[in-house]
Amino acid sequence: EKGDDRASHIPRYVRVNTNVWTLDGAIAHFEAAGFTSIPSSDLVPEAKQFSVDPHISHVLCFNPSVPFATSPLLAEGKIILQDKASCFPAYILVPPDSGGWETRKVVDATAAPGNKTSALSALMGNKGKITAFERDSKRFKTLQSMLKKARCQNVTPLNKDFLGVDPGDKIFEGVTHILLDPSCSGSGIVNRMDYLLEAGEEEAGVDQARLLKLGSFQLKMIKHAMKIKSATRITYSTCSIHKEENEFVVYDALISEEAAQAGFTLAPREEVLPAWPRRGQSEGTALSQELAASLIRCVPGEDRTNGFFVACFVKSSPLVNKQE
Ligand code: SAM
Repeated sequence: EKGDDRASHIPRYVRVNTNVWTLDGAIAHFEAAGFTSIPSSDLVPEAKQFSVDPHISHVLCFNPSVPFATSPLLAEGKIILQDKASCFPAYILVPPDSGGWETRKVVDATAAPGNKTSALSALMGNKGKITAFERDSKRFKTLQSMLKKARCQNVTPLNKDFLGVDPGDKIFEGVTHILLDPSCSGSGIVNRMDYLLEAGEEEAGVDQARLLKLGSFQLKMIKHAMKIKSATRITYSTCSIHKEENEFVVYDALISEEAAQAGFTLAPREEVLPAWPRRGQSEGTALSQELAASLIRCVPGEDRTNGFFVACFVKSSPLVNKQE
């Protein structure tokens, strides 16, 4: 299937920003505006219909023709246009209604434009502290304005390179949760509406040499995160469909010295959006079926989302550090 055909099967996903609004408020608003709430199904809702997403509770699905880009709700920060799959990492890192975030410290290592940072902020009830890294100065400005619009009071954005800050730095003191969504080939994106491409990404293509280069950068980022002593949970995600950026990177991270020293392994399937049926690939990779099952994949044209991948690393015994 061509990119365009696949994109037409993807609903217009709207994330209700609970820093500003409520799901019930949003549903009442759209019903008053003449939309009918329908049960979730595999079909894209019709022009005057919407449904509540069955996997991500604060996401509503509309027909792609609804002109949200000009909606005042966007300017007011009440809604954020974000592909459903792109909501997975924050939901896996900080499960909805998990509570106790007031005293927690979280890092978003690669934050701009801030879709996942603002999702994290809302899931934490706008409490606790999120430090959001972004190395590119232009994209950092986009991040700042997004955080302001979404009224994220628990986020400190930093225009810094995550790899340039020592894992032992004070910035990371007490940080337990890390969201890592580094640059990737973007090969899963068929509907660009919600993805802000990085400079040169469009024309870069996906040849083997580039995939390997991206894979080694992504692995470096995961290892850096694993070296943060207090970290107990790390999500790694890409909008790539290539194993070189997904399962291969996860496997290399699992067998790394950093993972062994800190005791990182993969979170079991039950902790990683268990209701999502499409899991990681063991075929053609060195991952066992059990490990692959704890990974998430989304396939454009089949899953009503862009192509996406998520892994969740956890410290198996966070209180025991063999090096100490
Ligand atoms: N998580 C974002 C969202 O959902 O809106 C999208 C992140 S995008 C895939 C990757 C971002 O990471 C880019 O903005 C890129 O400039 C930034 N980045 C790449 N390497 C970085 C590094 N070493 N430190 C900080 N930011 C980095």
